[in-house]
Amino acid sequence: MEVLKKRILEEGVVASEQVLKLDGLLNHQVDPELTMEMGREFARRFREDGITRVVTVESSGIAVAFATALELGVPLVFARRKKTLLADPDALSERVPSFTKGIVTDIMLSRQFIHADDRILFIDDIIANGDAARGMVKIIERSGASLIGFGVVVEKCFQSGAQSIREQGIRVEPLVQISSLADGKVTFIE
Ligand code: 5GP
Repeated sequence: MEVLKKRILEEGVVASEQVLKLDGLLNHQVDPELTMEMGREFARRFREDGITRVVTVESSGIAVAFATALELGVPLVFARRKKTLLADPDALSERVPSFTKGIVTDIMLSRQFIHADDRILFIDDIIANGDAARGMVKIIERSGASLIGFGVVVEKCFQSGAQSIREQGIRVEPLVQISSLADGKVTFIE
């Protein structure tokens, strides 16, 4: 997605060889026009797949997942992050380490909002090692719903997360793929 690459080059901040800060676009401020464009692109790629729900993890995935769900005309459900889980017989939960915060959180999705006959599109902001995504994939599998695909705004290809999801046979659709953050520079895979 060329417009997204341009914005990342203009506004992204390479914090280290591992971390790209995208606070102006994704992780703090949200650009509604650009977000709608990302949602349209995900919707275009999954339009023929009979998606019945979009799911994401709070909080940075919500805006783009909302845009995607709006375009597809289906509900958006976001998994919630909880520090402690009260026993909830209705909740599907997984413990995941957080890449940026260095802590472990539980992500939770109520069975009320995901059903065995659902065809799920999972959307997220950035994939690094894939812990968050693998947690979400497990929750979707345990719900009995079909996971049709995973749309991610930024795939950092030098970390193994997206590859590990592909190896599970899941269709992964990144909007941009970054091969390196070396020398303070963002390099994309064309
Ligand atoms: P993973 O579980 O794949 O290791 O990390 C995924 C989550 O960590 C993403 O949802 C994202 O919020 C955060 N994250 C991972 N890498 C980066 C990064 O380079 N920059 C930012 N801003 N967030 C990241």
